[in-house]
Amino acid sequence: MIKFMPEPRLLDSPRGRDWPRPLVVPSPPTGVPLPARANALIVGAGPAGLAVASALWHLGVRDVVLVDRDGRPCHRFFDRIDRLGQRVLRSPYEHHPGVEGYRDCELLDFARMHWSLLTRDERGEIRMAQSGHRSVVPVDVFDAYCRHVAGVHGVTEQTWQATVTGIRPDRDGVVVATDRGMIDARFVVLCQGEERRQAPDGWRGGYWDEPVPAAARSIVVVGAGLSSAHIIANALTSGRHVHWVVRETEERYQCADVNASFFRPEGRAKFDAGSWADRLTLMDRHRRASVMFEFQPFLRAAEVDGRLTVHRGHPVAEAWTGAVRLANGDTVIGDHVVFALGTTPSIGTGLLPAEIVASRDGWPDLDERTLAYRADPRVFAVGAAACMVLGPAARNIDGHRVATARVAATIAARSGILAPTRLLAEAGAFV
Ligand SMILES: Cc1cc2nc3c(=O)[nH]c(=O)nc-3n(C[C@H](O)[C@H](O)[C@H](O)COP(=O)(O)OP(=O)(O)OC[C@H]3O[C@@H](n4cnc5c(N)ncnc54)[C@H](O)[C@@H]3O)c2cc1C
Repeated sequence: MIKFMPEPRLLDSPRGRDWPRPLVVPSPPTGVPLPARANALIVGAGPAGLAVASALWHLGVRDVVLVDRDGRPCHRFFDRIDRLGQRVLRSPYEHHPGVEGYRDCELLDFARMHWSLLTRDERGEIRMAQSGHRSVVPVDVFDAYCRHVAGVHGVTEQTWQATVTGIRPDRDGVVVATDRGMIDARFVVLCQGEERRQAPDGWRGGYWDEPVPAAARSIVVVGAGLSSAHIIANALTSGRHVHWVVRETEERYQCADVNASFFRPEGRAKFDAGSWADRLTLMDRHRRASVMFEFQPFLRAAEVDGRLTVHRGHPVAEAWTGAVRLANGDTVIGDHVVFALGTTPSIGTGLLPAEIVASRDGWPDLDERTLAYRADPRVFAVGAAACMVLGPAARNIDGHRVATARVAATIAARSGILAPTRLLAEAGAFV
């Protein structure tokens, strides 16, 4: 069997190109009070919130308010990506927050429309996508596309900068408390994404989403995922020595972070058929950290020439500023330690009453069909919080679309906008 090995040059792609702007450039509402009420309030304007708001727009639900800490669609997503210096996405062209089934301009269409702005490699990847092969999407294209989706569906003007501090469903609706006032909503969709996973108490060091101090000549990176790979590549490129601590006996290289079958109906059906315990096992097996294949030749070469030292097979037992002690007793020393331990899904804890989240093994209790919290069907979750219903792909861009189809159809139906059966049948088409 021939093993296809994508080349490291595919990881490179220009950032910050001047994409053609729409005739009217939308801007977020600033300096004005938050609206007092909304039919649907979306907490978080990341790719998941963007997908939900755009789908609601297509279904005719226009009284929508998005509340986001940063106040701009997808700001945290691109901020994290840019901090890592990540230039291409791991997910392919068919994964995007645009609305499926509504003749929208999809990500691949968008990229083709801007052919003249693309590099030779980027055009080659579009040809790969067109012929059904795995392809690599430039962050710059995805960023411009998200701005396009937010612009054409009126999402930018509906996104308010505020932090949601509490959600209290009552008899008449759902009261959403923010640091800038209260909003009464009929429906609330939680699209909070994930927070970085914290190191155990007492460990000292920096995190993957923080800058590495300029004075550090050598760093110790703890973690085996794509963020680690970017931090390592950046450090090597700037002439630093890197110690890479990988708990497993070998690092894993994979195209996507989730097995591709989980993006397809048959993969989800496999997940659906399992008991709670089976689902937990699948989540555990399929959410393990991995690095895009393109990194492999570069990291292997750095290890061979001694710029990178990989410590495999031993977890970290303790970490101080500039050093970690491994479970086998070895001490690994550098000028700075970086924890890249992944992320933990936000499931509504701290915002919703605990009896509504009804957390089990760290996952909320959601209705499988509608993704509403079973204890209050006016509140929904899209994104990583929906993993125990939709499988490991729920936290990825494509998983948001599956969740969105169910949630948006349910909200539109309950808002009396279209006949429920037709809407749910439409949602069923994507399930
Ligand atoms: C570096 C990196 C690269 C990734 N690459 C890919 C990829 O290539 N493909 C892929 O499918 N996935 C990728 N992912 C996974 C990725 O996180 C998700 O696909 C995507 O960001 C999730 O979107 P989201 O809207 O659920 O979360 P986010 O993008 O995190 O958005 C959630 C938003 O909610 C806001 N928020 C949370 N709580 C509150 C509150 N209480 N009040 C107000 N606002 C709040 C946050 O500030 C944030 O703006 C990547 C993740 C990282 C970190």
